[in-house]
Amino acid sequence: MRKIAIIGVTGSIGRQAVEVIEKYPDRFSLTMISAHRDVITLIEIANRYKVPTVCLTGDAEIRAEEFSYPCKLYTGEDALVHAAMDGDYDIFLNAVVGISALRPTLVAMQKGARIALSNKEMLVSAGDYVISRAKKYHSEIIPVDSEHSAIFQCLSSGRSCDVDKLIITSSGGAFRDVPLSELNDLSPQRALAHPNWNMGRKITIDCATMVNKGFEVIEAHHLFDVSYEDIETVIHRESIVHSMVRFKDGAVIAQLSEPDMRLPIQYAFTYPERIASPVKPLRVPFDLSFREVDFERYPAFRLLLEAGRKGGLYPAAMLAADSILVPAYFERKIKYSDISDVLEKVFLKYDLSGSYDLADVLRINDDVEKYTEMVVQKL
Ligand code: NDP
Ligand code: MG
Repeated sequence: MRKIAIIGVTGSIGRQAVEVIEKYPDRFSLTMISAHRDVITLIEIANRYKVPTVCLTGDAEIRAEEFSYPCKLYTGEDALVHAAMDGDYDIFLNAVVGISALRPTLVAMQKGARIALSNKEMLVSAGDYVISRAKKYHSEIIPVDSEHSAIFQCLSSGRSCDVDKLIITSSGGAFRDVPLSELNDLSPQRALAHPNWNMGRKITIDCATMVNKGFEVIEAHHLFDVSYEDIETVIHRESIVHSMVRFKDGAVIAQLSEPDMRLPIQYAFTYPERIASPVKPLRVPFDLSFREVDFERYPAFRLLLEAGRKGGLYPAAMLAADSILVPAYFERKIKYSDISDVLEKVFLKYDLSGSYDLADVLRINDDVEKYTEMVVQKL
């Protein structure tokens, strides 16, 4: 029986992870969960599975009487760090959005748990630091992000020293077919209609701008220790090939499946074993298409690649700015094209190269968020 902690259980990934666990009560047990604001769903999941450790990170009210069984409840500042320290789990799924779960995840690493990593912000903002800690603690990180799960699976076909290129696929997002002349001012509602995947709101906008793909390239660089020159991105409309690895001999290994996050979630739980999943089998025949990324359509993607290459805290700054810009776009405070324009402003404003520690990451995150808010107000 594998004991599983899911932080961010109320989110899109968290709920799908609960579905995976529910299907195999003889294999998995849910031993720790967290939410930020959604108290109702948190209590519902806790009561349904009698989860021993429950954590609420936001400041909503929660009362012990609401639980139908005796559970250990953690609330307030640092609740997640304490819960991660005290909780009993073999696998720690980080499905929280943002960088707030960085410290609890480091705690879980130190405890020797497998990290099932869905959260991408942690590697984007502090990849060097996180990977150095993972190495120090001999921590096992199994990626959940579909592209990285695919690469992880493809890599098992050869030795890492024989890898030539990682090829990351992108659907191109909701605006991939919109004429360039109309890109300036598209509504968030249109961006939310993602052609292939059903995901959270923020990540769906990040797919439209391909900021998400930029984050994923940075994630891949850290996770697989591959240089940016050896990571390619291609537009693949069908979202059937989730990514590929080309080896030195020219062989390209790809992972294909219906686009459904329950597969990479389950794989991170069962690896190296594979068991039946709720994902629809891929029906043949099917069409596959691949084309180059048009940087004119995705200026933010180019910036993210540059931020990755520059390293240091550049990716952290892009992430912080984007976390302000996407909600501002939802609230119609800014136009679609302002997202990439402001990201560029942030990129040019700071000198962020060089090494850093965790305190620097948090500081630059705060600074950039404030600066971006100010820029948004002036637009
Ligand atoms: P959601 O927004 O759907 O869920 C986020 C979860 O994090 C919720 O449980 C939320 O709690 C919790 N949360 C929000 N803010 C905080 C905070 N400050 N501190 C602690 N917990 C917080 O996100 P997704 O599930 O879509 O994504 C989760 C992560 O996985 C992200 O990093 C995303 O980029 C990545 N990812 C997502 C994919 C997808 O298909 N959705 C695919 C690949 C990667 P509450 O509900 O109570 O507010
Ligand atoms: Mg992805």
